[in-house]
Amino acid sequence: MDNLNMPVMANTSGESHPSVLNVFKCKCPRCRTGNMFVEANPYKLKKTMKMHQTCPVCAQPFDLEVGFYYGSSYVSYGLSIAISVTTLVAWWVLIGFSTQDNRFFYWMAVNGIILIGLQPILMRLARSIWIAFFVRFDPNWKNIAPEQPERINKDHMNAW
Ligand SMILES: [Zn+2]
Repeated sequence: MDNLNMPVMANTSGESHPSVLNVFKCKCPRCRTGNMFVEANPYKLKKTMKMHQTCPVCAQPFDLEVGFYYGSSYVSYGLSIAISVTTLVAWWVLIGFSTQDNRFFYWMAVNGIILIGLQPILMRLARSIWIAFFVRFDPNWKNIAPEQPERINKDHMNAW
């Protein structure tokens, strides 16, 4: 057997390569294994946005700078648009629209209810996607310490 073509950072732990899709499970972007949120169920609303300060698996900080997650509102907005387009197309195909009746307004109402109902999931997902823009997956996370954020102000942590 010729091992010359093996990747340099071969995964020797025997674990399967964690999927990039773990971003949808709100996993840490660096190790794709640790949970970002303390409570598994997003519908326990008092704890929906309660996050670990660092990844429980690889110690990656989740608060990269003061107000870091303000930017996630753009992601949240994009997700809401994507869902609205999806329900619009589904409604168009399954129910249809007409200028003769109020079907368009029924769609708006139903879409609004869906968006509100999904809010806890969307808010978490927006944070998970947002931090994945800034923190890359590191296949060697077990051996290398995570980068520490520079602009953290401990006094302001958890102020939002
Ligand atoms: Zn991690």
